[in-house]
Amino acid sequence: MDNDLRTAKDHHGAVMTSSDTRAGRSLAYLAGVPIDRVKGIGPQRAKKLTEAGIGSVAQFLLHVPRRYLDRSQLFDLSSVPLGEEVTVGGVVRHVSKRRISKNRTMIEAVIGDGTSVVKAVWFNPYLKIAEGEEIVLSGKAELFRGSLQMKAPDLDRFEGQDSLVTGRVMPIYPKVGGMASQKLLGSMDNALRRSRPIVDIVPGEILDRLGLVGRDEAFSTIHFPEDINDTDRARERLVFDEFLRIQMALKKRAHDDFESQSGVSNSVKGELYHRFRDALPFRLTADQEQVIEEILEDMERPRPMHRLLQGEVGSGKTVVVIIALLTSVESEHQGAVMAPTEVLAVQHYLGTELALEDAGLAPPIVESGAADTLSLFHTEPTTTRGVRIGLFTGSKVTTNFVYGDISRARGLAWLADGTIDIAFGTQALIQSGVEFHSLGIAVVDEQHRFGVEQRVVLRDKNTGEGVPDLLLMTATPIPRTLAMTVYGDLYVSTIEEMPLGRTDVVTEAIPESADSKIDRRILRTVAEGRQVFVVCPLIDDSDKIDARSATAEFARLRVALPGVRFELLHGQMRSDEKADVMHRFRRREIDALVSTTVIEVGIDVPNATLMVIHNADRFGLSQLHQLRGRVGRGEHVGTCLLAADPTTSDGERRIDAMLKSNDGFHLARVDLEIRGQGTVFGGAQSGAADLRLGDILRDHELLAAANLVAKEAVDADPSSPFVEDVMREVVLLFGESAQWLTRS
Ligand code: ADP
Ligand code: MG
Repeated sequence: MDNDLRTAKDHHGAVMTSSDTRAGRSLAYLAGVPIDRVKGIGPQRAKKLTEAGIGSVAQFLLHVPRRYLDRSQLFDLSSVPLGEEVTVGGVVRHVSKRRISKNRTMIEAVIGDGTSVVKAVWFNPYLKIAEGEEIVLSGKAELFRGSLQMKAPDLDRFEGQDSLVTGRVMPIYPKVGGMASQKLLGSMDNALRRSRPIVDIVPGEILDRLGLVGRDEAFSTIHFPEDINDTDRARERLVFDEFLRIQMALKKRAHDDFESQSGVSNSVKGELYHRFRDALPFRLTADQEQVIEEILEDMERPRPMHRLLQGEVGSGKTVVVIIALLTSVESEHQGAVMAPTEVLAVQHYLGTELALEDAGLAPPIVESGAADTLSLFHTEPTTTRGVRIGLFTGSKVTTNFVYGDISRARGLAWLADGTIDIAFGTQALIQSGVEFHSLGIAVVDEQHRFGVEQRVVLRDKNTGEGVPDLLLMTATPIPRTLAMTVYGDLYVSTIEEMPLGRTDVVTEAIPESADSKIDRRILRTVAEGRQVFVVCPLIDDSDKIDARSATAEFARLRVALPGVRFELLHGQMRSDEKADVMHRFRRREIDALVSTTVIEVGIDVPNATLMVIHNADRFGLSQLHQLRGRVGRGEHVGTCLLAADPTTSDGERRIDAMLKSNDGFHLARVDLEIRGQGTVFGGAQSGAADLRLGDILRDHELLAAANLVAKEAVDADPSSPFVEDVMREVVLLFGESAQWLTRS
């Protein structure tokens, strides 16, 4: 066995990095040293560890203790406080094992430390414990029939490891690859001794500024602390490094995709802008003003914008988006608005059409036959000819300047020659074959569903002038710290303040069986001239899932309330059918829509005041909040009925959170607490490197620091040794799952 892991390089081709020329080994170097080089890890173990994500010495060193045992903190059994988490130690005096029922075995042990004894019980038949062993128990001690007892305490052993533990503190590792903490301990000691000193790739002045300890110290302290109080600072450093890797990758991608590209430079706040603003029937909120400034500043720069606009349903994002679109049109470019579904694309189109009319910016409407002459006057300024918009759905195109629909081919030709100023559609709009005369800005609704790949397509839409600006919007706002991690490559503009006069939706929870009560509420709402949404988790009844389906509920309601005009809406319907149902609902030809979550985002029907959600405990918190936001958008107060008989505590917590709060940011935080951060990078960015050490909520200050350090570094020099060292770690440590971080 080598004494120095550095010699492993020759056999395994580990990469030498710039850091390796300094004394010590870099993490990137250690990421190239296979785990079986470590003492106590043979081929079998190495295989299992590799499967568990620990294939290299670097990954092994990043497997940190979940807690520590501190001898000085052991309680004497005679004075142990009751009902608190404590650690006690002693010798096993007696062990017994008995079957207490058909499938339950109880193990009982009596442990004494010279001051008293404690009885420990476990219901784990595989637990290994022998008389005479010296053990450590962690858990709660209680008095049971007059004697001290611990139920299912954590069991650890100090025995035999003393030489490895520098002080009196012993690390306890999470089990991995079939290796229990004690086995790991010996190997970790070997790996660490042979890896040290571990080179620090973060410049000293940054560490000083942030008050962080060096990497070598961090690794040695996290595994084998002299004093348990030092472990916090060690952990802090490792968490910072973890955040730094993610942030550096995101900033680097932002640099490659946007900052290093030349963009469209717009002249802002021209006549269209002023005419549109002056015609608004309300005053913009301070948040709206603020985000408009942020966006226009980006659009003026000769770099492509990459910004996320987040704000709850009803916070007034649409006005902001229209201003961005008009800015592009005013600078003689085009805009594209892309939604995740056709229903939503229709909604955006109709909203914009109306807003243009209100502002006196709608073009005259001509007969289809006369439309060919349009290009003759398309050099006329938009302020006099109006802003021409087109909706691309399926095989036809609807515009605000030609009577009746036109063919898709003609619509595409008008995009290519610039006759259409703003196009609305799904993401198919930017896919191959669709050419713009000069695309200046792409607005994408619902960022989650817009993958990295599409951004690249957008970058390739560079029509000579430059890469178009990108404005992503989401109505599922998340707290700033979280936004930083998930959208670290985007600038984020947030509208928190709701326009004045908006009242909270009244939310009530009722049992899933309360059909007659719900039916009466629907009837009453419709009788008042208002409209209703009924949302079910399934399209059709299912044998496997015990939940309501929209189809069955639609059938039931039609019989139960024959006077109410119901209609069905779900994702498996043809898109023209869906659009037709939506139109009729908006024109109040339908009283109540029975649907699945296709109505989750963007549907704006101010006359809808009642939202019934069946099996509400099955939906995610942000989804519930989104659905609730569909009602109460007009002058009337909205009501949301959450029908559920929650069977899980998470389901209960979500319903409870909905009853208590109407604040999307707060709910996003609760959602994160319930789901855990493992899912943060879910959805379009699946397979992402999950955080192992850091906790976005608890460590948000370190996250902010890492974000800033990464930004400064990439801004200063995207190919500096520091940036490259961190990026090398990203690739080597995150492996496959780094793809979404690094692809550009
Ligand atoms: P979002 O797109 O964020 O869901 P919208 O832009 O559709 O929200 O706005 C919801 C409603 O509020 C619309 O009817 C809009 O006209 C109105 N609205 C927007 N901004 C304001 C404001 N500053 N004051 C009053 N009403 C506003
Ligand atoms: Mg909107």
